[in-house]
Amino acid sequence: MRIVLLGPPGAGKGTQGERLVKKYNIPHISTGDIFRAAIKEGTELGLKAKEYMDKGELVPDELVVNIVKERLKQPDCDNGYLLDGFPRTLAQAEALDEALQEMGTPLTGVVNVDVDQEELVERLTGRRVCRSCGSSFHVQFNPPKVRSVCDKCGGELYQRSDDTVETVKQRLEVYNNQTEPLIKYYDEKGILFTVDGSKDIDEVFKEITSVLDKQ
Ligand SMILES: [Zn+2]
Repeated sequence: MRIVLLGPPGAGKGTQGERLVKKYNIPHISTGDIFRAAIKEGTELGLKAKEYMDKGELVPDELVVNIVKERLKQPDCDNGYLLDGFPRTLAQAEALDEALQEMGTPLTGVVNVDVDQEELVERLTGRRVCRSCGSSFHVQFNPPKVRSVCDKCGGELYQRSDDTVETVKQRLEVYNNQTEPLIKYYDEKGILFTVDGSKDIDEVFKEITSVLDKQ
């Protein structure tokens, strides 16, 4: 089961990802994690990536793809994997395809967890975080027992600057601009499965797995 998981912030991609790796017994691979591991192990590619990151520059696509390729060849990926946060650009997607073709292991499917823009704004701007313990609540979907007070530790709840309407809209726009070409690309290849992420978590999961199991 070789899966790419796509979805805007707030669509519940994280939750679905966790469930998918458990069900299919595959590793959850995010570029952030691979980079950290490659740098820690001091691999040649890892050190190259570190040079860019230390300078505060973006790691070039080619290097990102090579690091991912190296990761996908490790034995725990024999059974498949779930890629999260990669590919991010069309160039990365094409390079990934090329690499997988060489390895003889094409993607099983690309799952796109989609939620209506207005609902995403509602979900993301309603988030409140505890200043003391970091617990997360939602004014509508998971409200604390007492307004602005953490259920767990009594700490003060606040809205992160990332979660204001303006910032959220900006984040979503950046995401859409970046992802649109990817979605089109995978759709044309016939391996894109879009699920309605506004439904109940269990329902969304059932929908995803029933599609994947048929592949
Ligand atoms: Zn707390």
